[in-house]
Amino acid sequence: MKNVVLLGSTGSIGTSTLKVVEDQPDRLKLVGLAAGSNADLLVEQAKKHHPAAVCINDPAKALNVQERLGSGPRVYSGPSGLVKLATLPEADIVLIAIVGTAGLEPALAAINAGKDIAVASKEILVMAGELVMREAKARGVRVLAVDSEHSAIFQCLEGKPASSVRNLWLTASGGPFRDATKWPAESFRAITVEQALKHPSWVMGRKITIDSATLFNKGLEMIEARWLFNIEMARVKVVVHPQSVVHSMVEFVDGSIIAQLSTPDMCLPIQIALCHPERVNSDRVQTNLAQIGSLTFEEPDTDRFESLKLARHAGEVGGTLPAVFNAANEVAVDRFCNRQVSFSAITEIVARVMAAHQVVQRPTLNQIMLADRWARQAA
Ligand code: NDP
Repeated sequence: MKNVVLLGSTGSIGTSTLKVVEDQPDRLKLVGLAAGSNADLLVEQAKKHHPAAVCINDPAKALNVQERLGSGPRVYSGPSGLVKLATLPEADIVLIAIVGTAGLEPALAAINAGKDIAVASKEILVMAGELVMREAKARGVRVLAVDSEHSAIFQCLEGKPASSVRNLWLTASGGPFRDATKWPAESFRAITVEQALKHPSWVMGRKITIDSATLFNKGLEMIEARWLFNIEMARVKVVVHPQSVVHSMVEFVDGSIIAQLSTPDMCLPIQIALCHPERVNSDRVQTNLAQIGSLTFEEPDTDRFESLKLARHAGEVGGTLPAVFNAANEVAVDRFCNRQVSFSAITEIVARVMAAHQVVQRPTLNQIMLADRWARQAA
């Protein structure tokens, strides 16, 4: 039995994680649950799973949660509450699925407390990949991928070192604006929030759905892959695959390519991360290749989607630049969702903020957080 702490339990990944835990009652037990502001769902989840502790970001709601849960779990709030949950003595693994940067501190706290972490929040490895992987190595804990692409690569690699890899191939659905005849570059300025929120293959949280439309999501994943698999950016490649059945691939030095395939369902990579190293039974994902019929691949259009070029540059330069790339994008996406800037302005804002940044190499956590704050203001 593995004791799991779940940060971000009320979100898209969080609710899928609850399904996985419910599928595996003899293997997985939730001992901690954290949410941002959705107190009703957090209380409902806690009543069902009886964790030792819960956390709600909004301190004003903590008292209400405590009253509704009675003498059950301990109730914490705010960033310090997340760290308490991430370091619960009974926890074996901490799954971090909080949107934004709030997951970084608890991720490092969990590692320092000797817990394995399962990372959905890509911000953690984008901002502080070098630091997180170094700390994890020093403590002898695992950093497991929840993102479907990285889970695929992890499964294909089977522990082989970076020296056996020619390229890692991240697949991208291409998002709703893949078709250049329907969506030429000139049309990007007029794209609405509603159009950008219509993802062709996945149902996800709002921020990541917009990131999938701009392809910033793939850019963040490129940097995440660089750190997770300890491989330089030049060997992290992207190919567009609209069916989202091949989740990613590894091209080995002998020319062989190994891919992981399944119909899109986040429950699968979540289960693989939480049950690692075992493969356990689940009927949830059924893939009928004959019914799918054809799998197609195409070059990403880096002229219309400059986010990929910016990501490669951020990953190659390293230091504080990936944190700046991430923070500027977060602000720009927020402004786009509030209809204050156009769709094409998201990329323009990030490019300008990156160009203005004075990069700090081998940054400390404090320097990363300073760069993050600077980029938010600049954006
Ligand atoms: P959602 O927006 O659906 O959920 C975000 C979760 O974070 C919610 O539970 C929210 O709580 C919680 N939260 C926000 N701020 C805080 C805080 N300060 N303290 C505690 N909890 C907080 O996002 P997703 O589930 O889609 O994505 C989560 C992360 O996983 C992102 O980094 C995303 O990039 C990544 N990811 C998502 C995938 C997907 O399929 N959705 C795939 C791969 C990666 P509340 O609702 O109560 O406010």
